[in-house]
Amino acid sequence: MGAIAPVRRISKTRKRKRRTHYKIEVPGMTLCPNCGEMKLAHTVCKACGYYDGRKVLEVKAKEAEEEKVEEKPARKPRRTTLKDAE
Ligand SMILES: [Zn+2]
Repeated sequence: MGAIAPVRRISKTRKRKRRTHYKIEVPGMTLCPNCGEMKLAHTVCKACGYYDGRKVLEVKAKEAEEEKVEEKPARKPRRTTLKDAE
């Protein structure tokens, strides 16, 4: 015998309504007030080791002007749904 099957077929509308909640969230990023790099909100800045205005971490290897990647101005995170990938 077969496996347990749903009693009713889920309509297209119901399925799509459910899937409106399947979203890719962009992690909360902010600009570091100390060095201006993008960093995760509420975390120590990886670039300069500062958090809440004081140095918390010693950032190793003071990269003496590594090839600077031109940074684009901070973009508003876009909400993307999985539906777009279908
Ligand atoms: Zn920083």
